[in-house]
Order: sequence, then structure tokens, then C-alpha cells
Amino acid sequence: MSSTVQTGNAPHRSSLPAPAVDAGTDGPTGVAFAVARATDAVRWWQDQGFRGRKRLLQAWKQAMADDADELAAVMTAETGKPDDDALLEILLALGHLDWASKHAEKVLRRRAVSSGLVALNQKATLGYEPYGVVGVIGPWNYPVYTPMGSISFALAAGNAVVFKPSDLTPGTALWIGNKWAQVSGGHPVFQVLTGGPDTGAALARSGCGKIAFTGSTETAKKVMAACAETLTPMVAECGGKDAMLVTADADLAAAASAAVFGGMANAGQTCAGVERVYVDRAVYAPFLSLMVQEGRKLVTGTGEGADYGPMTLPDQVNVVAAHIDAALEAGGRAVLGGRGSVRDGRLIDAVVLTDVPENNAAVRRETFGPVVVVNPVDTMDEAVDRANGTGYGLGASIFSGSRTTARKLAARLRVGVVTVNSVLGFGAIGSLPFGGVKDSGFGRTHGADGLREFSTPKAMTEQRFAPPLDLLRMHRSERDMKVARAALRFLHGTRRGLFQGQQKAGGTVR
Ligand code: NAD
Repeated sequence: MSSTVQTGNAPHRSSLPAPAVDAGTDGPTGVAFAVARATDAVRWWQDQGFRGRKRLLQAWKQAMADDADELAAVMTAETGKPDDDALLEILLALGHLDWASKHAEKVLRRRAVSSGLVALNQKATLGYEPYGVVGVIGPWNYPVYTPMGSISFALAAGNAVVFKPSDLTPGTALWIGNKWAQVSGGHPVFQVLTGGPDTGAALARSGCGKIAFTGSTETAKKVMAACAETLTPMVAECGGKDAMLVTADADLAAAASAAVFGGMANAGQTCAGVERVYVDRAVYAPFLSLMVQEGRKLVTGTGEGADYGPMTLPDQVNVVAAHIDAALEAGGRAVLGGRGSVRDGRLIDAVVLTDVPENNAAVRRETFGPVVVVNPVDTMDEAVDRANGTGYGLGASIFSGSRTTARKLAARLRVGVVTVNSVLGFGAIGSLPFGGVKDSGFGRTHGADGLREFSTPKAMTEQRFAPPLDLLRMHRSERDMKVARAALRFLHGTRRGLFQGQQKAGGTVR
């Protein structure tokens, strides 16, 4: 199928992506078998230790990097994203795999911690142990970067992983799984299980150690309900409605360019993409005009030179159209594109809306398309309140000429990640955790917190010598209790309490 598509201005010839690679479907009946195989394999994986796992994860990373063009082609065929975007996604994903494999030992190995005055005779240590089998349920919008954020960190922490990708991107997942099979000597430490929602639901009920879910908030609630049946903990990486704040002294050209990139790249199908901009009224007009200029340059399609491709999920086109309609019906204005930007064949040209009421669906709900709402604000306090005003809390960005101002605003935003003077700046930083608050979910992937997310802390004490105060027994001596009473006041009370204690004991205090 091919079509001539219109960009903000330039026509562009392109063809829509082929249907998803025919990968067959394992379905829910395969879940129990895959989890049982993973449970067997996990012992071997744990025996490899941090160093052995690092060696294999590095080999996997290299094998994927060497054939990245092939993987990018599969991703493009399944999602419609441009080849360059697919390659960038692989680069970022492998960066996190590299970080996880190199830092797992340092973050998770057993270490001594302070035992404190009262337990001076105990040596206290803390270690992190894997859950066993982690089930990963992934989305289609970043079919490598997003699930690998869970898979890499779960594997590096010593877990086996059963991965259920989106039913729109099974070929991408199977490609990654085949690369693992090539380097791992056939150990089913990482398995891919294809299928739809019922397969995901079966995985959530399978009794595996933890579920890492990425997808919409609505689906997260269903997965959580299924996990509750077996008290299986989960990570929920859900949707967002991220805001950008632009202050009067910001570099407006940089802000406008970032708003277009953050809002339109990947056809706006980015969980932490820019969906709203709150700009100081003093610079609202020049900012809007710069953004429209930038947006107008975008080429929509799948051919050479396209900036972004079609919507991957056919139904999402209706959501995007409904949000544009709702905004315009409520008095909003389209300053770039409009309802006519939604074309046949899942292509949507860039749309910039303004003056949209804050209670409108286009402002409050995740659009997940190339549509950005830009609203003016009188103060940055108002911008913060509006940014915090939706149910979501994934990320936010701030453009400001003052770092002090930006930091103060950042501290008041209820989100999991804030980017100052760029958008999505955290995506390539291995040491930073990623995840949201409120309806955007809970738990973290990436960074040291991502490694700990897929581990359970195990505390340990070893008695080194007989305690000077023998308190952990049924019949304590009068002397030990007298010292314990004094210690209680001395360590935790005020000077007044210490004085009263001394008086009771017949002593004095200076
Ligand atoms: P989705 O919620 O429709 O599906 C996600 C996954 O869950 C798929 O693999 C699907 O097959 C599976 N699934 C569906 N119903 C299920 C059920 N009842 N039980 C178990 N599994 C089930 O999401 P999507 O459309 O694939 O992805 C888009 C959404 O993901 C957007 O909301 C986006 O913001 C979000 N997302 C979030 C992040 C993040 O890190 N926060 C990253 C990427 C995407």
C-alpha cells in the first residue's frame, strides 16, 4: 500500500509499514512451560555470579550491536518508525544493558552496614538477592528500549526473564531472544513468549517472582489485579501527559525546537514525550510562532527523509482525532495543522493547539500522538499548578535562563524525572532511575534503583562477641535494665529526661 502524504507543508511519497512480522503466537498455554524452564535455568544463572553474568550480558550486547541494522529493519517494519530512530533506540537500550551489567556487582553485593551502639556486638550486612523469575510485559512504542530497561536490569541482578512483548512487535522481541540464544549456550535464562493480553494476564498469574509491566494505566490496573491473586509484586511504567515549562528568560528557539522534537518524534508515541507547554505570557507569541515554524518543517511518512512515521496502533488515531475535536469544540485554536492533519492510513501531521481549557481531554488525557497543547500562563506558579494538575506524573521539562529558577520549579513538579533546557535528556544516562508517580506508575527501571527493583534486600547479623548488655533474653538483670533505661534517655531523649532519669536513679546531672 502506498500513499502521498502531506507534511506541515511539503508533500512526501511514502508507503505504510508492512504488517507485523508473522512470528506465530505462543499464547497463554505456553506461559507455565516458559516459567518452569526459567525456574530451572535460574540456578545456573545465579551460579555464574556477577562476573559471569556480566561476561554473557556483554557478549549479548555486542552481538546485538554488530547486527543492529537488521534489528532496526525489523523494528521499522513492525512500528513504522524511521530507521534512524530505530538505531538511536537500540543505541540507548544497549547503553543501559552495558550499565546494568557493569554496575550490578557494586550495587547489589553484600556490604557491611553500621550496627549502632546498642547492637555493637553484632556485625550487620546487607545483600540483594534476585526474585528468581521476572515476567516482563512490554509495549510497542519503543519495543527495544522500554522492555530492555526491565530485562537488562532483571538479568544483571540474577533473575531469569520471561518476556511477553506487545502483540504488535513480536518480531523485534524474537530477534532479541534469538541473539540471547546464540550467546548463552541455549540456557533459557531469557525467553520470549508471544501473544496478546490473555498471555500477559497468564504471565501475571503464573506465580513468577515479579512482574515488570510497561503500558497504559488502564492495563496496569488489570495486571495489578491479576498479580494480587498471588501477591506478586510489580513495577508499573505507565502513560504520561508531560508538560514543558518555558520562563520569560528562556532560549525560545531552543525551547520551541525541543517542544517539537519532544512532542512529535516517534509520531508522539512517547510515554515521556511533551504533550503540554506552559509558557510565560510575556514570550507566548514569539514562542508559539517559533514552534509553528519548526513544526511546519516536519515530513510525515515512511520513506527516505521522513521525520516520523504512521501511528503504530490503528485505534490510537481515533483517540488523537477525538482530542483535537474536543480542544477545538471547547474554544481552542489550531495554530499548526488541525483536524485535517489526521490522514488516511494512520498518518497524522504535526498539530499545535493553543488556548485549550485546562479541563479538556486534550490537556488532561494522554493523547499519544503528534499533538502539543501550548497555553500561556501569567506566572510560573500557575505553570507548576497546571503541570501538576493531571492524574499523571511521569516527566517534565523546564526551559529557563536561570538554573536557580529551574531548580526551584523542578522541586515542585510531582513527576519521576525533570529535564532542564532539553527534553528526554535522561534517556541515555545509565545511572538515573526512570519511572513515574501517580497514574504514571511506580517502581523504577535503570540505574542503581533499577537493579534494586529486581532484587530483594536480605539483612544479616552475625554476633561477634557476647553483648555488654544482655537484653535479648527472658530474664534480664537489674543492672542491664538500669543501663538500658539510661541509654534510652541518653540516646533518644532531651536533657530534661536525662535529669529525671538520674534523679530516679539517685544520681546527679551537671
Ligand atoms: P497496553 O497497555 O495496551 O499494552 C501493554 C502490554 O500489556 C502489551 O504487551 C499487552 O499485550 C499487554 N496486556 C494488555 N492487556 C493485558 C492484561 N489484561 N493483562 C496482562 N497484559 C496485558 O499499552 P501499549 O498500547 O502497548 O503501550 C502504550 C502505553 O504504554 C502508553 O500509555 C505509554 O505511555 C505507555 N508507555 C509507558 C512507558 C514508561 O516507561 N512509563 C514506556 C513506554 C510506553
